[in-house]
Amino acid sequence: MSQPQVLALHAVPSTPVRATRLALRSPMEMQLQLPSLLGLSLERDVILDQFLSYISIDLKPASFDVQTSHYHFTQGKAGRHRAHYQLKIDEQYLAEVQLTRNRPFSDAELSWLEQALAYLLVPWRHACAYAQMQDLALQDSLTGIGNRRALRQQGERLLKTAHRHGRPCSLLLIDIDHFKRINDEHGHERGDQALQLIARCLDQGLRSSDLLGRWGGEEFVALLPDTHLPGARIVAERLRQAIAELPLGELKITVSMGLATLIASEDLDNLIKRADHMLYRAKGEGRDRVCTDTREA
Ligand code: GH3
Ligand code: MG
Ligand code: MG
Repeated sequence: MSQPQVLALHAVPSTPVRATRLALRSPMEMQLQLPSLLGLSLERDVILDQFLSYISIDLKPASFDVQTSHYHFTQGKAGRHRAHYQLKIDEQYLAEVQLTRNRPFSDAELSWLEQALAYLLVPWRHACAYAQMQDLALQDSLTGIGNRRALRQQGERLLKTAHRHGRPCSLLLIDIDHFKRINDEHGHERGDQALQLIARCLDQGLRSSDLLGRWGGEEFVALLPDTHLPGARIVAERLRQAIAELPLGELKITVSMGLATLIASEDLDNLIKRADHMLYRAKGEGRDRVCTDTREA
């Protein structure tokens, strides 16, 4: 049996309360209204929006804050008085919730809030599990970086932003050289390890605002927002060198790269196509190099 818990971390009325709102909705009303509102969606933001709009009628908070290790929802500007709870089911930590306002909370209001939070527990746990599944669906299981689907989703978003603001954006298509030979000579497991190391090396060599993903097999894509061709060339060259210098014992690994920068009204497929042509050229010219499509917006 699940043991839902709403642990009060800081929920005592901090000063004597004079004016208390008398008509808090009854437990019966809450039971009829709140679960169906919270069951409308599996999206965390939507559930919290619904919850906040429900409790706002009775409590009029100045701010509302929900935090987990990977997620933060915050609305409003903090007031002087604070009610702070930890949500748990069966010792499984779910979130920390903070409500603030400038008027103190009365005992009756805090107990009303605790009842409302108890209705949030299960929908919130489902929403977190759903978010985790969505994250996994976008992750490459071998390297932990984004997969092709993530590159498509997030890449298209980055390109839209770049077009809208007239900002540059460059793309690197990175392919490991003679990787089939590496597998054949050293085994598939060493090949997998090499893929993991290369992914980490690329990740460490990029900015946090860049998008990196595994495009397929031994190919990676890096999308560099706000980066002109000359800047992207420097990044590409630095990554190429870093990979060539990876300490892999008797294994020597190099990569070839195709580089292209976004031109007017171009979509992700076309940008990748131009980078792919350049990658093909880099292979033809002897590998372990970067070839650049010189077209610029
Ligand atoms: P090139 O320099 O022309 O790119 O040669 P290549 O051998 O890298 O290219 P090719 O496309 O012929 O071979 C790609 C190899 O990548 C073949 C495949 O076995 C290997 N590969 C793809 N995915 C994985 C993987 O997940 N793990 C391992 N170990 N190998 C993989
Ligand atoms: Mg390839
Ligand atoms: Mg290859």
